[in-house]
This record gives sequence, structure tokens and C-alpha cells, in this order.
Amino acid sequence: MDTTRKPSWLRAKLPSGPGYQAVRKLVDDHKLHTVCQSAQCPNLGECWSRGTATVMILGNICTRSCNFCAIQTGRPTELDLGEPARVADAVAKMNLKHCVITSVARDELKDGGASVWAATIRAVRHANPTTAIEVLTPDWKGNTALLDLVLDAKPDIFNHNLETVERLQKPVRVQARYDRSRSILQHAKSRGFTTKTGIMLGLGEREEEIEQTLRDIAADKTDIVTIGQYLQPTPQHWPVARWVHPDEFIRWKEFGLGLGIGVIESGAMIRSSYHADEQSQKYTGV
Ligand code: SF4
Ligand code: SF4
Repeated sequence: MDTTRKPSWLRAKLPSGPGYQAVRKLVDDHKLHTVCQSAQCPNLGECWSRGTATVMILGNICTRSCNFCAIQTGRPTELDLGEPARVADAVAKMNLKHCVITSVARDELKDGGASVWAATIRAVRHANPTTAIEVLTPDWKGNTALLDLVLDAKPDIFNHNLETVERLQKPVRVQARYDRSRSILQHAKSRGFTTKTGIMLGLGEREEEIEQTLRDIAADKTDIVTIGQYLQPTPQHWPVARWVHPDEFIRWKEFGLGLGIGVIESGAMIRSSYHADEQSQKYTGV
């Protein structure tokens, strides 16, 4: 398959309009990082024009080096203790009924950044009592005590991405493990949280592996699943194995719903935080 040219269904909207300008100014003024920019998300034009962005806390340098991810790897700078308050204020100014917060991995910190996560959730809740808070977190190296610090701050949706099928975890996501990521989702579910995960297609996974992944997700009782097309951020990153046709995305959605998964958003441009308010409406009611 020729993967050098993107198919027509992957053309993204260009950023424009007052909504886009307002989000841009807010991000700059509050010195925030967004995964929209750092991960080179193709939906930035559309989401920012709608007045939404996904804030990335704990800096913009990650201690991990996943082969699909555009976020810079390295030694992070110090902790920014003013960040929770600035995030809370930005969410208030964006007037979001549903916000998504994510972070880089901070494996060099003793608590992996869990205390900053908890402080951020509490600050956002305090400033925005009616806003649904969705968190997309790292795997805490499987340490459920750290995960509990985050869950004790009571996010509305707990999201952790499996990213790909089991066989491709090591080559694509070198410091992570499939079973460890699953155990994190299982733990959040065991505490009664609404859980969410996501995978990308086009990394080289096989049909039966996608099926198995969705079966595992269903077995873990994960409520919401996103399935999107992998895009290669730079020529140094993992290559795109194929462009998945829109009909195939629909097929996977039907397959997953048939397994009993509550909500599946599946399409080339789907990302964890794409229209996250609509993905979660069934559970958040906002
Ligand atoms: Fe940002 Fe998520 Fe929209 Fe991408 S899909 S631009 S990461 S809010
Ligand atoms: Fe990117 Fe997350 Fe991997 Fe860090 S841990 S490189 S932010 S996908």
C-alpha cells in the first residue's frame, strides 16, 4: 500500500476563526502545554475553533520514548507548582462543560507526578463545579497506590490508552506493557469509575489482534473506546503500515458494541479527546 500520500478522508481543517484565536491566547497567557500542539494532532483546527483544547500537565518533556509519539523525550525540568491553578482558570475561561487533562510520563519523580495530578483535578473541580473532568493518565508503572492518589481526587472519567495490540507494545511503546496498562484500567473499574481507553490502527496490527484487543477491553468492562488512524509525526517515527478505510472503522465499532462495550468512537480522525464531551455524555450526563 502506498502510504506516502494521505487518503482524502484524512484531510484536516485549518485553524481559523475567533474560537481558535481565543484558545490560542488562553494557552499562551496561562503558559499551558496542550497535547493538541505537542502531539501534532490533526484535529487542532477543528477543536480549537470549537473553543476546546486538551491541556497537558507536568511539562512538555516526557521521560518515555514511544515510537509513535511526537512529544519530546528527555529529562524534564522542575515541577511547576502554579500549574493546577492556571489549568483551573483556563478551563473556567474556556467555559467547558467537559474538560480533558493529560500529562507526559514523569518516571523520574518518586510519585510519577500523581500529587500534581490530584492537585490539578481538585483545583479544576473547585473552580468549575459543574464541569465533567476526564483524565488521560500514564500507566504509573502499574503502581495502584499512585493511581489511587489520582482516583481519590474523583475525576468523572478515567482514561488510559492501550494504544495498540499486545504484540506491538514493545516495538511501538517500549517502556509500557499491555498487561500493566490493562491492570490500571481494571483497578479504576474495580473502584467504580467510568473507564475509557483508545487504540490506533495502521501500525501493523493484524485483524485477529484487533479482535482480541477489543475482547480484552470488553472483558475489563471498559466503558468507552476510541479507535483512530495512526499518523507518523516525523520520518524518524514508526512508519504507517496502512490507511484504514472508513468502512473498516465502522466495522470495528459494530464489533466492539457487539461485545457489550458501552460507547465506541471509531474513525480515521478519532483521538482520545476528540469531541470527548459527546463520547462520554452517556456517563457524565453533561
Ligand atoms: Fe486537541 Fe484532542 Fe482535539 Fe486533538 S482531538 S486537537 S488533542 S482536543
Ligand atoms: Fe508520548 Fe505518552 Fe509515550 Fe510520553 S508516554 S512518549 S507522552 S505516548
